[in-house]
Amino acid sequence: MTFRFGTVGSPVSTPKKPGGSVGGILRAAELGLDALELGWVQSVRVSDKTCAAIRKAAEERGIALSVHAPYFINLNAKDPAILESSRGRLMKAARAGYAAGATDIIFHAGGYMGDDPEAAFETIRSRLEEIAEELRSEQTDVVLRPETLGKSAQFGTLEEVVELSRAIEGVAPCIDFAHLHARAGDGSFNSYREFSDALSYVKKRLGERALKTMHIHLSGIEYGPKGEKRHLVLRESDLAYTELLQALIDAGAEGRILCESPVLEEDALVLRKECLKLYKRKRA
Ligand SMILES: [Zn+2]
Repeated sequence: MTFRFGTVGSPVSTPKKPGGSVGGILRAAELGLDALELGWVQSVRVSDKTCAAIRKAAEERGIALSVHAPYFINLNAKDPAILESSRGRLMKAARAGYAAGATDIIFHAGGYMGDDPEAAFETIRSRLEEIAEELRSEQTDVVLRPETLGKSAQFGTLEEVVELSRAIEGVAPCIDFAHLHARAGDGSFNSYREFSDALSYVKKRLGERALKTMHIHLSGIEYGPKGEKRHLVLRESDLAYTELLQALIDAGAEGRILCESPVLEEDALVLRKECLKLYKRKRA
């Protein structure tokens, strides 16, 4: 199997003790999952000691870790105080994540704030470049991954995150296929053809390596004309996840697939099982 599967945030069935990120890692391993995205989405409050414990648990269980940085980050902020706190949140997630053994930091880049998309891109590019350089200079060796987002007011089309990745060393996309489907707003971006075209585009702009180290978010999703409303259980949604998995396999993609549906691990296991089935069929 060339994909690892896991959840965004600890599995729902993580027991209260030991709980926390370590509990989530142990539970993920018990479930037969091999990746976990730590959901540090409100704030990053984790001691050095906890980071060391997280790293150790993940190494022992063979769980690949990433971190979802706090939601409240806006690299296109006009208010200097908001920009500074946004920078601070992303840097803190990266430093603590690195200490905890995470290799990838996922974040929402921001909103358009009334700017045209080109202006927003340029602002976010220059600010993210500074952050990436600062982290590199202090040897915080993580990949920063802006995520494709589900609402039309959010910065984060596939093109935007791919072009940011092309422009800045140490930046790569986190592709949330459910968000892209929701963002389309009309039910499109939900077919083998559209998924395959997106993967060809990633390969063309970022090279083969980007396809071999993909970081993917997946869940069912409810949407309207302005995009995402909420995440849904896969089988209660219209997301064509079998076609997506087939497109990924046919493109030779590899990496991690993290599920953020309301039944996190149940759907992560649905995806894992389906993916295994498609691999077997392809090899047969
Ligand atoms: Zn996210």
